[in-house]
Amino acid sequence: MDLKRVVVDLMPAPLVRTFASPYIAGKGIASGVAKADELHTKLGLYSTVDLLGEEVFRREDVEATVQVYFRMIEVLKDRPFASISLKPTQLGINESMAYCQDNLRRITAAAASHGLRITLDMEDRHFTDITLQMFKAIRDEFDNFGIVLQSRLFRTSDDIKALHAKPCRVRICIGIYKEIAEVALQSKADMKAKLFEQVQLLLDHGHYPEIATHDEPLVRRCMEHLDKHGVPKDAYEFQMLLGVPRTELQQEIVKRGQIVRIYVPFAEEWKYAVHYLKRRLAANPAMAFMVMKNMFGS
Ligand SMILES: Cc1cc2nc3c(=O)[nH]c(=O)nc-3n(C[C@H](O)[C@H](O)[C@H](O)COP(=O)(O)OP(=O)(O)OC[C@H]3O[C@@H](n4cnc5c(N)ncnc54)[C@H](O)[C@@H]3O)c2cc1C
Repeated sequence: MDLKRVVVDLMPAPLVRTFASPYIAGKGIASGVAKADELHTKLGLYSTVDLLGEEVFRREDVEATVQVYFRMIEVLKDRPFASISLKPTQLGINESMAYCQDNLRRITAAAASHGLRITLDMEDRHFTDITLQMFKAIRDEFDNFGIVLQSRLFRTSDDIKALHAKPCRVRICIGIYKEIAEVALQSKADMKAKLFEQVQLLLDHGHYPEIATHDEPLVRRCMEHLDKHGVPKDAYEFQMLLGVPRTELQQEIVKRGQIVRIYVPFAEEWKYAVHYLKRRLAANPAMAFMVMKNMFGS
């Protein structure tokens, strides 16, 4: 394990929350919605709003999560610039696939009646098969349901080829979870080369790639390639995380008339947000120092 992960893992939850504050909209649905409104009004950005939470085990907590998503749908339904992201581990996958799929289906059906999009995040490799199975079953019924694939996994190109006969929205990213060498690429450069290839593969199979990266050269490489091959600008979009400073690049893409969608997480209970925030801090420990500098002056 590398040192920065060890340090972040040992950090107490309140400290994690403080250091990771740029990555979260705040507490409660209203904070997520306010951030989505602000991003759209001020910068012309789209959002995918996410309730932070994973490793939810008790049925009553899962049901409480489902109810939060229902309330989000009510608030976001009149905002065409917003969509929703969610995770299997917050919706009952730890109990059974059938239970989780039923919860996902309830949320997707409610969102579909308002034309609101739902995206199923991808967690670590232990969940890949089950997540794809649930996705395919629900995609059979609903057009508003999308998924995430991770270019670091060796299996991903095959997963794209076997995804679905219907067109799908697919967020393609390198993946945040560290995976073993038996199943995944280990070098970021290789993961990004794969991501570039898989954007084209998704288009070739009739899908809508949501290119999720903050790597500016990779974003530019994708744009140049897709422009050169005459791919319409509404056949794909770019996605980035709240808190990663990419305003200039985002504005450049918006001016090209394309969608840039920001992942906007909010928390209902901080204890459920800690895993997400620790992963973000491990990906970028410099953020902790930046926040400290802002707190105490330089
Ligand atoms: C919208 C969106 C949704 C995602 N959903 C999933 C998902 O469902 N499952 C999953 O496994 N992964 C998900 N990810 C995470 C993704 O897989 C990567 O881990 C993450 O985006 C970093 O990869 P990168 O391509 O930006 O490249 P990197 O090389 O990691 O980053 C490029 C540059 O961006 C900046 N940067 C990147 N991350 C941060 C950060 N946290 N803080 C500050 N600066 C940073 C740094 O300057 C870095 O040099 C998602 C990412 C995005 C943008």
